[in-house]
Amino acid sequence: MILASKKALVTGASRGIGRAITERFIAEGAEVWGLSTKEPADLPERIALAAGKLHWISADLGDLVTVEQIIDAQIKESGGFDILVNNAGITKDNLSFRMSLEDFQKVLDVNLTAAFLTARTVGRDMIRRRQGAIINMSSVVGIHGNGGQANYAAGKAGLIGLTKSLAQETASRGVRVNAIAPGFIMSDMTGALSEAARTALVERIPLKRAGTPEDVAAAALFLASDGAAYITGQVLAVDGGMFF
Ligand code: NAD
Repeated sequence: MILASKKALVTGASRGIGRAITERFIAEGAEVWGLSTKEPADLPERIALAAGKLHWISADLGDLVTVEQIIDAQIKESGGFDILVNNAGITKDNLSFRMSLEDFQKVLDVNLTAAFLTARTVGRDMIRRRQGAIINMSSVVGIHGNGGQANYAAGKAGLIGLTKSLAQETASRGVRVNAIAPGFIMSDMTGALSEAARTALVERIPLKRAGTPEDVAAAALFLASDGAAYITGQVLAVDGGMFF
């Protein structure tokens, strides 16, 4: 039980990577507050299965005015989080020259600004308690860029800058801040890709398969755990070797 008696807040917990992280953390003894825009249809079953270890928050992180208030209420309810995983994310893909300001801004609001506000709110409390681990879900696209995803890539690159800056600001107070950069992971987000596009992507991956949400959850578990006690300000790629 690597996370016994730890309390974690995981955003984007309804499905995909966030769901896998939530389930893995609970399996390792943590109590998890999962947040997403909408409750998943199978939430009652999930809560029953988690035997009191899963709490739910339905909230839109794109509504930047209310983010801090919502997170603050959860800090009070939980008594304080030991782990924060800023995982919620969206895409609104288009070529830069066709991309509307609205679509550029919306992706930055949800993927970067909401993560900043959440980390600031949870981080303040972690600093007061002199302990905590924050994990930001970036992407290989935030390191290498991707045609058709200027808004998404800018947000994910921003998360890396945020991670490294926050790590420097909080290290002396016992708080660690790291990022994960997943490559091509099978989820609803990538499910819209055509079979041909998926095959072409897998061809570029040295390990010759797409990643699973569980692959990313294993990395999140490590960074959240005491096993990573001497690691902060890092970006851990979980990409099957896609970008050596
Ligand atoms: P997904 O689309 O399956 O799940 C996204 C989650 O975020 C959902 O729970 C959704 O409800 C939540 N969410 C979206 N907008 C929200 C909002 N405004 N407020 C609150 N919650 C919101 O995505 P996924 O593939 O599981 O990706 C999870 C994270 O990993 C994202 O940040 C994504 O950018 C990142 N990522 C994914 C891949 C991949 O290949 N799937 C690769 C690199 C990075």
